[in-house]
Amino acid sequence: MAHIGRFAPSPTGPLHIGSLLAAVASYLDAKANGGRWLLRLEDLDPPRELKGAADTILKQLEELGLHWDGEVLRQSSRLDAYNEALQKLWDDGLCFHCDCTRPKVRAMGSVYNGHCRTRKDQNKRSSAIRLRTRNDEIAFDDRVFGSIRQKLEQEVGDFIIKRKDGLFAYQLAVVIDDSFQKISHVMRGFDLLDSTPRQIYLQQLLNLPTPHYAHIPLVVDDQGQKFSKQQFAKAIDSTRGSELIHTALMLLNQPLPPEIQKLPPQEILAEATACWDIQTIPKLANIPFREADTSSLKSASACDLTAT
Ligand code: GLU
Ligand code: ZN
Repeated sequence: MAHIGRFAPSPTGPLHIGSLLAAVASYLDAKANGGRWLLRLEDLDPPRELKGAADTILKQLEELGLHWDGEVLRQSSRLDAYNEALQKLWDDGLCFHCDCTRPKVRAMGSVYNGHCRTRKDQNKRSSAIRLRTRNDEIAFDDRVFGSIRQKLEQEVGDFIIKRKDGLFAYQLAVVIDDSFQKISHVMRGFDLLDSTPRQIYLQQLLNLPTPHYAHIPLVVDDQGQKFSKQQFAKAIDSTRGSELIHTALMLLNQPLPPEIQKLPPQEILAEATACWDIQTIPKLANIPFREADTSSLKSASACDLTAT
């Protein structure tokens, strides 16, 4: 089977070191396996978007030598497909309206207890649409973290697939588009590991194939906070491309040939593709990182391509 990977940033801000790590890892994993690397802009949530961020992300990727294959897919152009999937789930009797507030769900212990499942007086206006869950175990083998299991009903609860404000939820859109783009291998941040069983459940309900999944550590700051766009994480300076890619490779603990950081980004990526080893990625939820720290990063083991 052909290897098709992807990078799927939300345009809520420019790339930062955390999103760069996901971009570099998914790119190298696809290329090292002779595959294609697709780009999808997850622009489904206009209120959270930052004007111009989508263009900035594309420009940053270009400058870093991370060239994607084919056309960019924008989720904002895919609403018909999401509606169709929602309709199928609805027809199968798996959805219900829910107007429970966040504090109410928190009072349930943050696992939705099915409160509105069978309500006769469902408030259709200003309510979200939730998907019924079951308690059979969803299991998958993460390529980095190994065996993962979750009982959705017990551990997550019925979850939202269309929000109260009318926007489609990430969980539904990501599943429809991974299938539409024929993604065979998903590689992304550890924060989404917990979402994967929900996505596999949706694939099962919609008769879609399940890709292979791999999650990589999240980059966190001194305080253990995730570098995220919402917290105005410092945008990477893509004119320092070689240094940034090198930093990402060190954080991913990749074996590298010596002196690689002196090469232009594109050449570093080519060398790193040849040396790529998913086994050496740290099996950690978080990696602490300080911007000023790049020189003190521990060097990964050497990559000797002449060795057999
Ligand atoms: N759009 C998500 C993000 O920027 C990533 C989704 C995914 O990789 O499944 O965090
Ligand atoms: Zn409810």
